[in-house]
Amino acid sequence: MQTTDCTIGIDLGGTKTRLGVVDFLGNVLEQITIPTNVDDGYDAIFADLITVIKKFRNTPNSNIKALGVAVAGQVEAVSGLIKFAPNLYWHDVPFGQMLHDATQLPVVIANDVRSATYGELCFGAGKGLEDIICLFIGTGIGGGIVSKGSLLTGHNNSAGEVGHMVLSIGGLPCTCGNRGCWETLAGGWAISKNTQTAVRKDPQAAKQIILNCGGKIDQITPHHLFDAVKDGDLYATSLMKPIEESLIAGSTTLINAFNPESLILGGGIIEGAPWLVSTIEQGVRLQALKSATEKLSVVRAQHLKNAAVIGIAAMAMNKIRLTVWQ
Ligand SMILES: [Zn+2]
Repeated sequence: MQTTDCTIGIDLGGTKTRLGVVDFLGNVLEQITIPTNVDDGYDAIFADLITVIKKFRNTPNSNIKALGVAVAGQVEAVSGLIKFAPNLYWHDVPFGQMLHDATQLPVVIANDVRSATYGELCFGAGKGLEDIICLFIGTGIGGGIVSKGSLLTGHNNSAGEVGHMVLSIGGLPCTCGNRGCWETLAGGWAISKNTQTAVRKDPQAAKQIILNCGGKIDQITPHHLFDAVKDGDLYATSLMKPIEESLIAGSTTLINAFNPESLILGGGIIEGAPWLVSTIEQGVRLQALKSATEKLSVVRAQHLKNAAVIGIAAMAMNKIRLTVWQ
C-alpha cells in the first residue's frame, strides 16, 4: 500500500483539543477532538496527546514526518517553550521539547491565531496571495498579518494582538488591563456583556432578545442578539450598529497600516453573523485610503474550525522543508 507523507496539526484549546493528520496538499486525512483536561495539569494533557499521536502514527497509509501545536498565548518559536497560555494556566512549559523527546519528530509550536492565518495563506482563502490580514473575531479578536509572503511575528513573537488596539480612549475596561480596546466593543465576551447591560436598561425595547435567551439576561450570548437581528428586530439592530462601526474602524486602521490584498474574516462572531463580511467590506471601501483598497478583497475564511490545525500542520511541513505548494 502506498503511504502519504503527512504532519500532525494540534489545536490545543482551553476546553477542547483538535488533532488532525494533514497531507502536503492541506487535506485533513484523519481528525479527532478530545477534551482538554486543564485541571489535571500539563502532564495529563501531554499524555492524552501522546496517545492520539501514537494512534495516528500507527495508521498504515500515512507517514507522519513532523508535528505542530497551536496554542492561544505567547510562545518562543525556536525553543518551543509555551511562555504563557492563559486558557490553560500554563507558564513556561517546554512543550516543544517534551513532544520532541517523546516522539523524535520535528516539532513546531505557534500561536493559534497565527497558525490559522498560515492555514488560510497556504490552503485557504489566502492561497496564492502574498499580502493578507486574517481577522478572527470570536470570544476575543486576534489577527495574523502576512506581508510579501511572511507572517509578521514581531520582535518578541507577539505580533497580531489586534484586539487590543485602542479604538475608544478611556473606554470600557478590557481583559488585558487597558481600556477601550477593540475587543471591548466587538469581541464575543464584550458583545455578551454590553448586550446584557443594554437589555437590563430597557427590557421593554429588548423583549425579542429576552425571549431568545429564555428570560435569562445574565446568560445572553452574541447569538441571542444575532437571532433577533435576523428576525428584523429594530432594537437588536440598533445594538449591532456600534459593533459594526467598530469592526469597520478597526479593519480600516489595519488596511491603512498594512495594505493587504485580502482581508480574510473568520471566528465565531463572523459565523454567527455572516452578513458582517459585506458590512465590513462596504465600510472599509468608504473609510480606508483609496490607495489601500483599490485591489482589496474582503472575504470569509475558508477553514472555519480547522484553520489552526491545517496551519500548524503546514508550519510543521515548512520546518522539514518538504513543502509542495508555491
Ligand atoms: Zn485589551
